[in-house]
Amino acid sequence: MISVFGSVNMDLVAYVEAAPALGETVTGRAFHTVPGGKGANQAIAAARAGAEVAFLGAVGDDSFGAELRHTLAGAGVDVTNLRTVPGPSGIAHIVVEDGGGNSIIVVPGANGAVTAPSAADLDVISRSDVLLLQLELPVEAVTAAARAARAAGTTVVLTPAPVQPLPAELLEAVDVLVANEHEAAAITGQADHERALEELRGTVGWVIVTLGSRGALTAEGDGPVVHVEARKVTAVDTTAAGDTFVGALAAARVERRRPDEAVRFATAAAALSVQRAGASTSMPTRAEIDQSLL
Ligand code: ATP
Repeated sequence: MISVFGSVNMDLVAYVEAAPALGETVTGRAFHTVPGGKGANQAIAAARAGAEVAFLGAVGDDSFGAELRHTLAGAGVDVTNLRTVPGPSGIAHIVVEDGGGNSIIVVPGANGAVTAPSAADLDVISRSDVLLLQLELPVEAVTAAARAARAAGTTVVLTPAPVQPLPAELLEAVDVLVANEHEAAAITGQADHERALEELRGTVGWVIVTLGSRGALTAEGDGPVVHVEARKVTAVDTTAAGDTFVGALAAARVERRRPDEAVRFATAAAALSVQRAGASTSMPTRAEIDQSLL
């Protein structure tokens, strides 16, 4: 089983010719509400890739909270431990300009209320094969979950996004770090991603640096750095490619696939997701991933 201790947001996406300046009002051309948050995205990706997944986190007592719970449950994710707390759910307010540039305001809402894993969360974490973590919950809570997982022998996978200073106690409890090239550079101060990877593998047993359409670098233990090429596909929307990659990677690890095989499985899943629009809506099913690997 995979547990995800993380964020869930409603993304409020407005499409507009040009974003308004302060004090200005503009008319947009379209608006969508899309369930998101890195935690929820990774949970849905893992469930679609065939894993049993439990989500640990919080929504607010507003209508978004009910919709987010329904979306996770509909994707087959166990929401028994998803708390409803007073106040608004987390939201991301996204303005997309013609040409694709965007500006985003994230208001953590209920995610900010998750200041520590509950006793019930800790029980699920200790019974999981893999725990997926990101940095959209308070970092103290993420650190506590990682340490509890480490103590229980649960494999801890961290996506260090949004990038921020990582407490040593957190990094020490991480088994697998999956960072994109910007995150790897920010954490290490090394612009060269091979150097960044070398530095990170000093602390974490298995490091993966994802490179968008150039694939991923992976290094486990003292083993060689392996470059897994991305699949040559026509990308229409790369939103949540990284979350799809991590969810599929975790699903493959629960099945005890070797690290290099797990990276290939994750690479195939991410390549399928970038060929479709949306975040959770673009994530491939297990049958689709298996088919693409034939
Ligand atoms: P996001 O923030 O959009 O979720 P990310 O920055 O965390 O993504 P990336 O490094 O962009 O992560 O992509 C993750 C993986 O997705 C890559 O390692 C690759 O396997 C796959 N991928 C991303 N973009 C493409 C693409 N254009 N074509 C094929 N595969 C892609």
